[in-house]
Amino acid sequence: KEELNIIQGALELRTKVVEEVLTPLGDCFMLRSDAVLDFATVSEILRSGYTRIPVYEGDQRHNIVDILFVKDLAFVDPDDCTPLLTVTRFYNRPLHCVFNDTRLDTVLEEFKKGKSHLAIVQRVNNEGEGDPFYEVMGIVTLEDIIEEIIKSE
Ligand code: ATP
Ligand code: ATP
Repeated sequence: KEELNIIQGALELRTKVVEEVLTPLGDCFMLRSDAVLDFATVSEILRSGYTRIPVYEGDQRHNIVDILFVKDLAFVDPDDCTPLLTVTRFYNRPLHCVFNDTRLDTVLEEFKKGKSHLAIVQRVNNEGEGDPFYEVMGIVTLEDIIEEIIKSE
């Protein structure tokens, strides 16, 4: 029965962690912070179909510094070739981070409380010789959690 599956899915939020449902960094549609919002870039953003787009600095996709909301483009004229930074500095959307081992019920609570429905997933990398460091693994959205609830086995 459908209802049973949903209840089952909701209960499983307590046993699953973010790492199991995230969208890996390699699959994320993102923008470089030095991008220019010309016609080509704006078209690419719209074609991606995503509402929230992480922005990274330099060549490092790990180094996420901002989130662009597609609605932030409302007053951008592609002919002006506005730097992306002008827009992200203006809206200054908060970045939310969660750890890879955070339970899905916890993230769901955070999404319900907070303003944003997207979080950056990071883990502590303590492999190798050097000091442990935070490593970005990907992103998780409310949609990823809802999917866990309603997916039927
Ligand atoms: P909304 O549905 O609120 O308009 P959306 O369609 O952009 O937002 P979500 O519904 O939040 O995105 O997520 C759908 C799936 O896409 C999820 O698996 C999520 O992890 C993934 N996702 C969200 N944003 C991106 C992005 N910028 N790049 C790649 N995958 C993304
Ligand atoms: P940095 O300290 O390198 O500038 P940061 O400021 O992003 O990185 P912190 O403020 O040090 O991160 O840590 C964020 C929060 O996460 C802190 O409350 C910290 O105690 C907590 N934290 C650190 N490691 C873990 C972990 N493995 N699991 C859960 N929480 C953690």
